[in-house]
Amino acid sequence: MTSSRISGFYRLSVEQRQRLLGEQLGLSGDALGALAEGGISLDVADKMIENVLGLFALPFAVGLNLQLNGKDYLVPMVVEEPSVVAAASNASRMVREGGGFRAESDDPVMISQVQLDDVPDAKAAIALVIEHKAELLERADAAVPNLVRRGGGARGLEVRDLGDGMLVVHFLIDCRDAMGANLVNTVAEAVADRLAEITRGQVGLRILSNLCDKRCVRVRCSVPSYALADNAEAGLAVRDGVVRASRFAEADPYRATTHNKGIMNGIDPVVLATGNDWRAAESGAHAFAARSGTYRPLCIWRKGDNGNLEGSMEIPLALGIVGGPARVHQGAALGLKIADVSSAQELAMLAACVGMASNLAALRALATDGIQRGHMGLHARQVAVAAGAVGDEVERVAHTIHAQGHATLDAATAALAALRARK
Ligand code: NAD
Repeated sequence: MTSSRISGFYRLSVEQRQRLLGEQLGLSGDALGALAEGGISLDVADKMIENVLGLFALPFAVGLNLQLNGKDYLVPMVVEEPSVVAAASNASRMVREGGGFRAESDDPVMISQVQLDDVPDAKAAIALVIEHKAELLERADAAVPNLVRRGGGARGLEVRDLGDGMLVVHFLIDCRDAMGANLVNTVAEAVADRLAEITRGQVGLRILSNLCDKRCVRVRCSVPSYALADNAEAGLAVRDGVVRASRFAEADPYRATTHNKGIMNGIDPVVLATGNDWRAAESGAHAFAARSGTYRPLCIWRKGDNGNLEGSMEIPLALGIVGGPARVHQGAALGLKIADVSSAQELAMLAACVGMASNLAALRALATDGIQRGHMGLHARQVAVAAGAVGDEVERVAHTIHAQGHATLDAATAALAALRARK
């Protein structure tokens, strides 16, 4: 794919979009056709989880205009909220004017935790664990031979005294292209008994930590102010408004929470569309945001020396491109194909960029018209559908209630009745 700038994409029908994307990415009709069913059959669903009653579909879309480290990406996004895809695509276009996103990623290292209780002498036990480090890391590697063969495996070990005879040992495991939960849980279970022997404690929990702060991505962008609005002067005001909004989030956890929700508006749809675990992404992100003891914004905006609006973000993200549901979910497999990434780290960087784009779009809207104006146009369509509008009635009812400034179900029902009476 050479460019993710596809003008007028939103004006095409679903079939036309599928055809265009299929040609551009060399996807078969079957691959895209699987989306009509939501990516899984009832049979597959029945084997994925328990007590299945049926399927529950969400829209699958592509985000446009995104450029990361000089490469263009089409972004697979699964989300129920109107305007998320449009906002991320729109902000990505602005960021593109400044050369696109720049990102880097840590190695994909997950933390495997082993809890040890009733340790008689914590200080001595810590020294013994460190003394046995090489042996313990060897045992960890032996539990995941396939991962080691692929270049992953144990990278280190840390011990912490939690007081009251409780120790926790962290095994740092490079999971390569997997999210890694099952891999590191396997490691924790394989080393726990030996740790209990060494520390003379009792084995407690053996599981990954979702605070995967060894697996962060860092994203930056520099947006020329003229790209933020229709004219240069308005662009300067938007830039300054976004910086003020950032400072508000830096000073106030109530605002920071909503600020970060806006970031996850972009990240979660990519996590979902690629079959990844969004609860893991969410818990890791929010714990990381609170690591100083105060909940803080994950993305910060400043005015750069050259007058550009500069964004920077750091976030832990445990995403995989192998394992997990993508093996059986055709929608997730398609999402990975569209993202066209060659490593889990690249996928994490891409998702983080969409998060930053979503944050920029929200702050830009808040700093100018307020969030409702853009939001309500799209929301009006959903309300029109809820009122029973079908076919071209949807756009007409949405247009009427949006223009009236009342995107309520009552207004949509009345508009629909009036429209049908005129027919
Ligand atoms: P997984 O269990 O499918 O393991 C990945 C497999 O892929 C391994 O067998 C590995 O050897 C293989 N593999 C093939 N190519 C690889 C490569 N290039 N790099 C790395 N591995 C490669 O998946 P996982 O990632 O260990 O676990 C993810 C799943 O665990 C998710 O579905 C998640 O929802 C679930 N989970 C999460 C939690 C949590 O977050 N707290 C807890 C338990 C389970």
